[in-house]
This record gives sequence, C-alpha cells and structure tokens, in this order.
Amino acid sequence: MGTTVFERRRPPASVVEHALKPTAQAVFWLEDLPEGAVGGRPKLMGAKVADLVVVGGGYTGLWTAVLAKRRNPGAHVVLVEAKSVGWAASGRNGGFCEASLTHGHENGMARWPDDLPLLNRLGLGNLDAIEASEAELGMDFHFERTGALAPAIEEHQVEWLREMHADAVAEGDDSVVFLDEREVQASVASPTYLAGVWEKRTNGMLHPARLASELARVAEELGVEIFEHSPVKRIDTPGSTGAVSVITEGGRVEAAHAVLGTNVFPSLLKRNRLMTVPVYDYVLMTEPLTEQQLDSIGWRDRQGIGDMANQFHYYRLSKDNRILFGGYDAIYHYGRRVRSGYERRPETWAKLASHFFTTFPQLEGLQFSHQWAGAIDTSTQFTAFFGTARDHRVAYAAGFTGLGVGSTRFAAEVMLDLLERRDNERTQLEMVRKRPLPFPPEPAAAIGINATRWSLDRADHNGGRRNLLLKTLDALGLGFDS
Ligand SMILES: Cc1cc2nc3c(=O)[nH]c(=O)nc-3n(C[C@H](O)[C@H](O)[C@H](O)COP(=O)(O)OP(=O)(O)OC[C@H]3O[C@@H](n4cnc5c(N)ncnc54)[C@H](O)[C@@H]3O)c2cc1C
Repeated sequence: MGTTVFERRRPPASVVEHALKPTAQAVFWLEDLPEGAVGGRPKLMGAKVADLVVVGGGYTGLWTAVLAKRRNPGAHVVLVEAKSVGWAASGRNGGFCEASLTHGHENGMARWPDDLPLLNRLGLGNLDAIEASEAELGMDFHFERTGALAPAIEEHQVEWLREMHADAVAEGDDSVVFLDEREVQASVASPTYLAGVWEKRTNGMLHPARLASELARVAEELGVEIFEHSPVKRIDTPGSTGAVSVITEGGRVEAAHAVLGTNVFPSLLKRNRLMTVPVYDYVLMTEPLTEQQLDSIGWRDRQGIGDMANQFHYYRLSKDNRILFGGYDAIYHYGRRVRSGYERRPETWAKLASHFFTTFPQLEGLQFSHQWAGAIDTSTQFTAFFGTARDHRVAYAAGFTGLGVGSTRFAAEVMLDLLERRDNERTQLEMVRKRPLPFPPEPAAAIGINATRWSLDRADHNGGRRNLLLKTLDALGLGFDS
C-alpha cells in the first residue's frame, strides 16, 4: 500500500507533544460567547399553549422559530431545548457555511441530477440569505464570504481538481478558479499543496456558536419563548383534537404543529430511529497567530480549506487569527450512542496535530489552546431528509452529515412549507418528497460502517482507487461520509 503525505512528511514527535501540552478539553466557540448568551433561560414548567412548538435549540430549531415568526408575526412560537442553545453540533462545528444542499456537487449529481440546477440556485439563495441576515436581523456572527479552497495534496487529486474546474467552466461559472502549484502556494503557503481549486462564491465562514446564540436572541426579540434544560420525553397526538403535545418532565406545550430539530439525538419519532448514525468528528484550535506567523502562511483571502482525500481535513482562520484544524478520523461507536465520553480521543488529536505541522511546518512551536469533538448526524444520502408525521401535525428534518451550517436554514423553510401544505419549488424537490434508506440495525451497521471507513482509508493510500465494496455502495447509492 502507498503512503500519504502525512506519513511521508511526519513532523518530529517533540513538535506534536509540545503543541498539545497546554490544550484544554473545551469548545473554543462556546467559551468565546459573551457572558450569559446561552444557558440562562428557564426550564419549561406547567402547561403552555402555542401555535407552533419547536424541539431542539440548534440551527434547525432556531431558524425554524425565527422564520416562522417572520412568516407569521402573530403566531405564538415556543422552543424547547434539552440543554442549552447551541451546545451540540451547532456550537462546535467548523463554521463552513456552504451553499450546497446536497453535500457537494458529486453527491448531488449522483442522486438528483434533474433537480441539481434548481438545488444549486436554492442553495446559493439560502447562503445569500444567511449572509444578508446579519444586517437584516441585526446579528453578528463574524460572517466572511471567503469561498472555499480545495488543495490537492496527492498527485492523483490534481486530476480531480482539473475535472472539478472543467465542470464549472462548462456550466459557465467563472467564480471557480484553478490554481497551479505555484499559485496555490502563493495563496496559502503549504508545501503539501500541488494544485488547488478556489470556489469563490459558494461558501462563507462564520462563528458557529455566535450564529446559534444570535438566532436565539433575535427569536426572543420576535416574541419566541425559549426554554432550556428541558428534554422532551415524548410527543402525544391524541386522535381527534388536531393538536400535538410536547411533554417534558414537569411541563408540556400543546400546539397545532410541532417541528423536530433534534439532529443526531434519538428521534422522538420511531420511524426516524434508524435513519441516522452519530459519527464523531474531532477538532483542534490553535492559540492566535502572531503577525509574523500569519505572514509565513499567507492565507490573506482567509478561505475555508478542505483537502481532497476521502478522509479529509478542514481548516480555517477565526476572527482573532487562530487556526481551527479538524476532520480526518470519523469514528462510529457500536450502538449508535451519543455520549460525552466519546468526545475524548487523544490518539486522534495527536494525529491531527501531526497533520497540522505537515501542512504548515513553518508554524512549529505554535500550540493548541482547545480540543473538542462532536457528533455528526450521518444519513445514507449524506444530506438531510424531510417529512411530516402524525397526521401532518409534526415536521422533521435531520441527517445533514457534517454540512448543516447552511442547509439547516433551508430545512427550516422546507418544514414550515410542509406544515403549511405549500406546493412550491422546495417541496417539489425529490430530495424533499422521498426518504433515503435507513441504516441497518446493529451489528450490521457497525460492520458496514467500519468496513467502509477501512476501504476509504485504503483508497486514500492507493491513488484514490476505490475497492469493490466502495464501488458496490456507490452503485447502490449508499455509503458513509462525514
Ligand atoms: C465537529 C463538527 C464539525 C462540523 N463542521 C461543519 C462545518 O464546518 N460546516 C457545516 O456545514 N456543518 C458542520 N458540521 C455539522 C453541523 O454542525 C450540523 O449539521 C448542524 O449544526 C445541525 O444543526 P441542528 O440544529 O440540526 O442540530 P444540533 O446543533 O445538534 O441541535 C440539536 C438540538 O436538539 C436538542 N435535542 C435533541 N433531542 C431533544 C429532546 N428530546 N428534547 C429537547 N431537545 C432536544 C439537542 O440538545 C440539541 O441542542 C459539523 C459538526 C460537527 C460535530
């Protein structure tokens, strides 16, 4: 088997050890919030009546609440969150806000080729709307429309980039730029880069936890009632009333409609229990770079960067010029569980730190201030699925598979459309009308996912060539991603 650049140019063990010495187990983004921005709201107690009740205080739930009030300012909307607003994926992600609603062009082409032009237009409109919402709703979540840079870090990936660029040119998209080795290294100075494609329009970078906390603040200003520390135990839809009740320990909300934005957590609907699996993704954050360190890496356009391997890294600059570096290992634990114990994985952070200094050897000596992890809600189609249940009283969306920062807002629009029985471009999409296949129950899920991960790692070590398992899964439209 071949090697990857991270094995060929491994930094000295002492550099990695030094870098990880002061690292705290904490989510930088959540620590970086203004005092009291999240977690101080009351617990739901007693009975409430509303028009719409939203379960989940991540982006999906928060956008739903905000957009519901924008559509219908007189509606009484209540949001119920198990812990605190944005504590889960929404407060701890990479902050890449992509236009794609299909987890990338290739996945969209393979699954919804006829709808893809419309999906691309809707996705771009969604990203524009998120960017515009800072001014429109008076929010500050450090949005920067930087685009995304995909560097080739192995020879075989250069060809992939050429194809990617050629496809964009064929579609008349002049915002996608091909950079040769010299040009890409002039943009971001990594000796591992052999070429790059910079998609200038289709991605923005943001502060993830601020997006969540700002959405919550705006929701409340619009009149939404938010309760934290209130896990919902079940939803009741008694036969003839036409209402839905969301029940917590000590409280309940009765409403005409409910929206579930519970992501990777066990669904309150039995039909969705097998639709997603939690996959753990790991992240490091450096201390702020000095001017000199910044000069040594260039990166003046501040693009979000994601390399081209199956097991890919994503990295970006924060407003205060730290580097967030995450990805590569995507770990599935037997039994589909979400557990805080899974958030500790020193061997993965050591691997990420080593890959960081392979990427930027000139930053040797820099240390990581934070390390954390989070669960990604992977679905078999790598992007969200949608639907309604219980006589149209409940709408749900989940399965964003590591690309939900942008598409959760779109999902909120779709769920509101579905509850309002709107027939429009969004609800006519095949992606909205058809549910993907579920994952199998255990032990098949663990065996299948781990065999797929092993195969993806081999492909990365083998010129990108996919083995029989991966080709079969590709043909069946199944797979595993993060
Ligand atoms: C480490 C990491 C990096 C990522 N990087 C990126 C990235 O760069 N770009 C990108 O696009 N995406 C990324 N993602 C994915 C993205 O963060 C998610 O797709 C997105 O945040 C999903 O939002 P959500 O609201 O659906 O889910 P969540 O943020 O998980 O929110 C769900 C909420 O529902 C609540 N809840 C669940 N069950 C109940 C219940 N029974 N009662 C009450 N409340 C309940 C939970 O407490 C939680 O707060 C990343 C994810 C991780 C983990």
